[in-house]
Amino acid sequence: MTESLCSSEDFDPLGTQVAPFKQEVNQTASKIKNNNINPFIKSTTDHGLPESPGTIDFRQRFFPRTTPAQWQNWKWQLRNRITTAAALERIIRLSEEERKAIRNDRHGLPVAITPYYMSLLNLHNPSQALRRTVVPTTAEHLHSPGESDDPLGEENNSPVPGLVHRYPDRVLFLVTGYCSTYCRYCTRSRMVGRKENAEPTMSRWTKALDYIRSTPSVRDVLLSGGDPLTLSDQMIEHLLFKLRQIPHVEIIRIGTKVPMVLPQRITLSLTRMLRRYHPLWISVHATHPDELTSEAMTAYTRLADAGIPLGSQTVLLSGINDDIATMRKLMHGLMRARVRPYYLYQCDPITGSGHFRTPVKKGLEIIRGLRGYTTGYAVPTYVIDAPGGGGKIPLTPDYVIGSDGDNLLLKNYTGNTYRYPDPDGSILS
Ligand code: SF4
Repeated sequence: MTESLCSSEDFDPLGTQVAPFKQEVNQTASKIKNNNINPFIKSTTDHGLPESPGTIDFRQRFFPRTTPAQWQNWKWQLRNRITTAAALERIIRLSEEERKAIRNDRHGLPVAITPYYMSLLNLHNPSQALRRTVVPTTAEHLHSPGESDDPLGEENNSPVPGLVHRYPDRVLFLVTGYCSTYCRYCTRSRMVGRKENAEPTMSRWTKALDYIRSTPSVRDVLLSGGDPLTLSDQMIEHLLFKLRQIPHVEIIRIGTKVPMVLPQRITLSLTRMLRRYHPLWISVHATHPDELTSEAMTAYTRLADAGIPLGSQTVLLSGINDDIATMRKLMHGLMRARVRPYYLYQCDPITGSGHFRTPVKKGLEIIRGLRGYTTGYAVPTYVIDAPGGGGKIPLTPDYVIGSDGDNLLLKNYTGNTYRYPDPDGSILS
């Protein structure tokens, strides 16, 4: 018998490595057991989300007869949305601009705010970032040159109602026109919140599904709206099931703002259902770091634990998130929530959006303030969705500053110049 050079007793890498540290390792193990080592990971029991102190105060003050269990119920949140000037005034002191905007607007985007999101608003300050995103002002009634109701030309790229087919391999499926909370800068304000679009109809869905089924180039379906996660589990599952039966549909994505405005919707029964339909991705509409409450963080934990890759989409908004510090805080918060910053959008020229839009140079300045100063994972792609239907066009600050002979001249994030040998042709020629 050949003698082994290394007996099994000799080859005990784990044992020999751990033995000298046994005491410390055991202490760490008991600490792990007894402590919440990661404050960003919240409980994933279905007993409800951990309420932040501000939310508890708000609930007790303005909804004193509401139990915590009712507050945690997403259907209660939807039934009790704040939708009128009177209901708003019961909670916040409206400015004259806000009051006039709500009272005079008969045909525009409706007002609706979940009680939960309302609890994040400043009750006295009309300039607070979150408040400006959901409480209208008369500035919405001003129409500036270049604005339109359908700036992205979605209606022209719609082969069947409720479906936009612009890019070769993917479609946008507008499954509902209903949102729990309406954003005042919504690109689809022409259709969301309107009775005729809010109710999803089976005949529309069937036509859209038939189109996808008969179009083999479609390998990626983005469910959006309105907000798909305001539908019941059964309706969402109906769509996912039908789509999964189409062999050429490889990826399904859901676009939603629900984890920010209605985190109670992210129940464990929802995530258990969603995980059956992988590969499933979720793009979250994220506006401001104040949205990242403990409730929202728990919602993201549940989605990420269900194996759903999460990305964010943020609209650049004047006076709301258009400074480097706010945007960096938002991106860092999203990273902690396991949401990869995906797109930063230049605000679309939707009718009445002038007060929200920033110069493009502001977006470039923000990207310049992120790139290099934080991990590349936290830097979204800044895009303009081209008016008229040209699709997303990425914008980046100019880091190539010229050439010198065979060298390319580059500027790094601190402004220093570097040369890269590029003898086979300048990209500038
Ligand atoms: S959640 Fe999206 S679809 Fe709904 S109002 Fe906001 S931007 Fe529009």
